[in-house]
Amino acid sequence: MSKFVYFFGKDVTDGKGSMKDLLGGKGSGLAEMANLGVPVPPGFTITTEVCVLYLKDQIYSEEVLKQIEEAIDKLETLNNKKLGDPKDPLLVSVRSGARVSMPGMMDTVLNLGLTDKSVIGLANKVNDERFAYDCYRRFISMFGDVVLGIDSDKFESLIEDKKKELKVESDTDLDAKALKELAERFKGVIKLEKGFEFPQDPKVQLQMAINAVFESWNNPRAITYRKLNEIDDSWGTAVNVQTMVYGNRGNTSGTGVAFTRNPSTGEKKFFGEYLINAQGEDVVAGIRTPDYIDTLGNKIPDAYKQLVDICQRLESHFRDMQDIEFTIQEGNLYMLQTRTGKRTAAAAVKIATDMVAEGLIDKETAVTRVKAEHIDLLLHPRIDPKAKLEVIARGLPASPGAAVGKVVFTAEDAEGMAEIGEKTILVRTETSPEDIGGMAAAQGVLTVRGGMTSHAAVVGRGMGKPCVVGCGEISIDTKSNIFMVNGHTIKEHDYITIDGSAGSVIIGKVDLIDAEINDDLKQILVWADNIRTLGVRTNADNPADAGLARELGAEGIGLCRTEHMFFGEDRIPAVREMIMAEDEKSRKKALKRLLPMQKEDFLGIFRSMEGLPVTIRLLDPPLHEFLPDKEELDTKLRELETSGDCGKIDEVKKVIQRVISLKELNPMLGHRGCRLGITYPEIYDMQVRAIMEAACELANEGMQIVPEIMIPLVGLVKELSVTREEVCKMAETVMAEKGVRIDYKVGTMIELPRAAIIADKIAQEADFFSFGTNDLTQTTFGFSRDDVSKFVPIYQKAGILEHDPFAVLDQEGVGEIMKIGIEKGRSTKPDLKMGICGEHGGEPKSIHFAHQIGLDYVSCSPYRVPIARLVAAQSTIEMRNAK
Ligand code: PEP
Ligand code: MG
Repeated sequence: MSKFVYFFGKDVTDGKGSMKDLLGGKGSGLAEMANLGVPVPPGFTITTEVCVLYLKDQIYSEEVLKQIEEAIDKLETLNNKKLGDPKDPLLVSVRSGARVSMPGMMDTVLNLGLTDKSVIGLANKVNDERFAYDCYRRFISMFGDVVLGIDSDKFESLIEDKKKELKVESDTDLDAKALKELAERFKGVIKLEKGFEFPQDPKVQLQMAINAVFESWNNPRAITYRKLNEIDDSWGTAVNVQTMVYGNRGNTSGTGVAFTRNPSTGEKKFFGEYLINAQGEDVVAGIRTPDYIDTLGNKIPDAYKQLVDICQRLESHFRDMQDIEFTIQEGNLYMLQTRTGKRTAAAAVKIATDMVAEGLIDKETAVTRVKAEHIDLLLHPRIDPKAKLEVIARGLPASPGAAVGKVVFTAEDAEGMAEIGEKTILVRTETSPEDIGGMAAAQGVLTVRGGMTSHAAVVGRGMGKPCVVGCGEISIDTKSNIFMVNGHTIKEHDYITIDGSAGSVIIGKVDLIDAEINDDLKQILVWADNIRTLGVRTNADNPADAGLARELGAEGIGLCRTEHMFFGEDRIPAVREMIMAEDEKSRKKALKRLLPMQKEDFLGIFRSMEGLPVTIRLLDPPLHEFLPDKEELDTKLRELETSGDCGKIDEVKKVIQRVISLKELNPMLGHRGCRLGITYPEIYDMQVRAIMEAACELANEGMQIVPEIMIPLVGLVKELSVTREEVCKMAETVMAEKGVRIDYKVGTMIELPRAAIIADKIAQEADFFSFGTNDLTQTTFGFSRDDVSKFVPIYQKAGILEHDPFAVLDQEGVGEIMKIGIEKGRSTKPDLKMGICGEHGGEPKSIHFAHQIGLDYVSCSPYRVPIARLVAAQSTIEMRNAK
């Protein structure tokens, strides 16, 4: 018989910490805490499996209902209270809890079990009528909003009316009588909106709340959150039904959230916030600004000491930083949640290295604790220390990094501006889960209210968005679309800069600079290097990038695109002269002018990469790319004709003629790559001469140079054999001239499906393969690389494509073709070295795949090299663990 409901509580716990998939993060954390003897209010978890079944059929099986019923009985027995008891009712919370946490995305109902009758029992029991009716009115409105889908404003406005009527300022000024009346009015709203009475049977309330929490898995904000965080839609959420405890029972009660280490910096210091005499939701909602956790010891010392002790135990037990929620009810501490804490990139790296030093985790675990996105973020910009700053306000430094953008006041505006390529800073009084789309679209977020654990702070950190919260000096005027602060008025679309590390708000656009890799990250990457078996090279075509990439850990160059060298301002006249040449002789003359320039490039690159392999790809793009645009030429011609400058007219006409003759309908599939080398062999000759002269001269200086010459866009064996022969001939000539032998290689790109399919034959002519997955994606899909933006985003929205295949390798199609290429290539040359140098070489999922299918290395842009080093190590660990 399947188990659908798992109980937790002192000595009666069915689940455990490892059952996250089934019980969700919250449920498994509660079970594990109960197993550890940590005080947890008892309750039960209905599994994610039930959610999936319920969402499919909208019905529960008899067995599920029976198990829920049994769990309720057990909970009643354990608490010695009954749901709906008119004398001393059992009250419960109903909360969601998915496999991975989705803060604030799904629904929660508190104080469930209160009815017209039981509220009187509660009032008598705790001897506090105000408290009882406060709970009741909160429950009715929460039930109305979450379970019945009634707009919460309908309840809020009644509270405002009541406050006006009684001429009081805050909710806490409302007395028992007022709250009782509000409860009555709230019930009236439900009757009016839904046509039925607010249910007075707690079991009906409970069943409806459970359904609502399951259904909240599919609310729009949860769906958006999952999409942004790549969370599987099919997982579903668990539901936790738990005995209520109250943090709002006076000055020895309180509630808070805490992290066992600082989630922003990683510092090993207990970190958190709490509110005295408040319910849990008040802290997370950012309505009252909470106090720092350190001061709790002065107010409720015993509970604080116990809390610190429990948190240390939890961290040692889970061997990771924990994010906990607690409530203190009249001096008694209860833990409501423990989970792995979300952290910033900087904190992830620091915590991982610190925990190795503390002996809590090993180096391999540390490498898995840092995510590729973390490294990406650490390489994100920060404010240039030399920049002059006009700081206009300060708030809390909730999520580090700096961001510049135009001020917008709504999430929709942030999204709209992003669509037209504008960068924004989203400025809100406080954010709510509805804002996540806008937060994702903005460069940074600034809020007026809320603490370090408010919605904006938690979500900002999770997204890696620079974020400043609780900036109370600001006042937003939404009618005029301005905000005012310390004498400044900032209008919508004015530029501001925020520094999420310092908590500052700066007027105008400030210069940002890239972050460098700190010692902790360097340490993680060295550990990663010791684990990984996949090589990491870089795509670089100038000495500066090559040097940078080497510093970032590149083990050579996997792709040097020589055409980039042709675009230099000093080169373009010679390149054009070469293209305009009418015969071989004049072309050779122009190429001769280019030779020393190309050689200079290679000298620089070889020096930067001394001792490491440098793969240089011969010219790839069609020649027309180096000529001016036809429209520009036409304009120039018209100008010349008007000014009567006859001298140049013929020259321009000649260029136009050449542009017309080189024009292609599909240049990406046209006269490029080795086709160009075969039709104009003197171009490749010049390039090979430049490569080999540079290599030989440096070898003569005593340097170890490892050139690998790569032929692009090969589809026929003959294309490679003919070109290779030419390359070798020139290489031999140069080596003879220079009197030195270099161990050079000649290989090819595999970037056409045909090349992969005949890779066994191609391998016989190649010393290495490098998969050009940009062109391979283009030619496999038949998608033009240059035109995909017109339809791929629409495909993604419609769910036709999950990812842009030019960003994330299409394993199903392109990947299969690569596998064929690898298998066939190695069938005739078992130790053929193979890599990937398309953009996918720096994308985490694609790096994993490259490793799995047996490539020897990936090659990516310099700033992605650290990411590739990390992911390669994680891939090794994952593959080893899968065995
Ligand atoms: C490729 O096609 O994947 C590649 C690396 O070459 P390019 O992007 O220069 O065509
Ligand atoms: Mg290519």
